[in-house]
Amino acid sequence: MSRSYDVVIVGAGIVGAACAEECARRGLRVAIVEADFVASGATAAAMGHIVVMDDSEAQFALTRYSQQLWHARRSELPADVEFEQCGTIWVAPGEEEMVEARRKQAQFLERGVPAQLLTPEELERLEPKLRRGVAGGLLVPEDAVLYPPCAARFILDRAQMNGAKLFLGVPASRIRGGYVQLANGLELSGSTVVNAAGAAAPLLSPGLEVKKRKGHLVITDRYPGMVRHQLVELGYVASVHATSLDTVAFNVQPRKTGQVLIGSSRQYEVETKDVDHVILGRMLQRAAHFMPQLGRLSAIRVWTGFRAATADRLPLIGWDPSDQNVYVATGHEGLGITTSLGTAKLFVDELTGKIPQIPSAPYSPARISISVHAHA
Ligand SMILES: Cc1cc2nc3c(=O)[nH]c(=O)nc-3n(C[C@H](O)[C@H](O)[C@H](O)COP(=O)(O)OP(=O)(O)OC[C@H]3O[C@@H](n4cnc5c(N)ncnc54)[C@H](O)[C@@H]3O)c2cc1C
Repeated sequence: MSRSYDVVIVGAGIVGAACAEECARRGLRVAIVEADFVASGATAAAMGHIVVMDDSEAQFALTRYSQQLWHARRSELPADVEFEQCGTIWVAPGEEEMVEARRKQAQFLERGVPAQLLTPEELERLEPKLRRGVAGGLLVPEDAVLYPPCAARFILDRAQMNGAKLFLGVPASRIRGGYVQLANGLELSGSTVVNAAGAAAPLLSPGLEVKKRKGHLVITDRYPGMVRHQLVELGYVASVHATSLDTVAFNVQPRKTGQVLIGSSRQYEVETKDVDHVILGRMLQRAAHFMPQLGRLSAIRVWTGFRAATADRLPLIGWDPSDQNVYVATGHEGLGITTSLGTAKLFVDELTGKIPQIPSAPYSPARISISVHAHA
């Protein structure tokens, strides 16, 4: 049996949900297929930091564009999405990191992103529980946080209200130009098929260069006022860049409930979802190093998730070079909650022949095949 749509999306994480919503909003007939339940992959595991990052021009463009899209929608987000513009403070332990804080501030201000350097005294006033003796920090007040599973559910509800059809609890076993074969025997046809299967995307589109990158998070009981901003050490970027080692970084988030969400860890080449107590211990030690009281809080849950990582730390958003009817939307690593809305706009703009608000070429999956050929 076959059913026909303009677009069939595989994966109802936040990226697939956002793509479905954007399609439905623009009047396209769209279906979305999810193997498990909505937001059951990386989306359920994420921190929900809506953050501007400036690792590269392309990363800046997509994160800033997407952040502005989140801000534009904040009045329609229901309470359970817990959107809160708490800002980020990038914490600089020493002078070396202060140099990086100044570079970052200059880069942000030049591009219209408010950013304020903090002296140790200002930092102490804003975040009294941080340890003394750090060199300062950088406050980025437009960064925000939200609760990812409810955000994805909300976006998908909007898509369904506009006519998107959801196929839940059934995996796609095969995709090829124009068709998605489901494990229950149903076949969906769509002029465009979107592979938004997160870290599982290469199973459906062999040849996609996406690796799993495992992360751990811990959530504490309620301690209102303990943390007021998303706090991230400036060394975090080095931990994201590492290509082989297991890394940890101080990265904590205040939740609206008063809970503290503690991260972060990164591991390659691990397939199991089990909690790894060695890296978890390192992660918590790092957190307590920056905020000693964290070590005395009671944790109520620990979990893990898999980021979909690419070699150049940019997502894969664009037509699959080996199948021009398949559009790829994966590889968002630790930024997919932030960049989901921008990804959806890029996709539907490209599909409908509209000029996107930011250049889409840097995210094209073709860049990987091109560089593979260039280095062969
Ligand atoms: C520990 C951790 C912390 C993070 N923190 C942040 C953060 O603070 N800010 C931020 O912006 N990002 C963060 N991220 C990254 C973010 O979670 C991801 O980039 C984002 O969720 C990716 O969404 P997605 O929809 O592409 O993938 P997923 O959420 O993984 O969704 C893919 C979906 O596809 C489904 N699927 C897979 N195969 C099939 C198939 N064959 N058929 C049908 N369905 C299929 C899966 O079941 C899944 O639901 C974090 C990630 C982790 C792991």
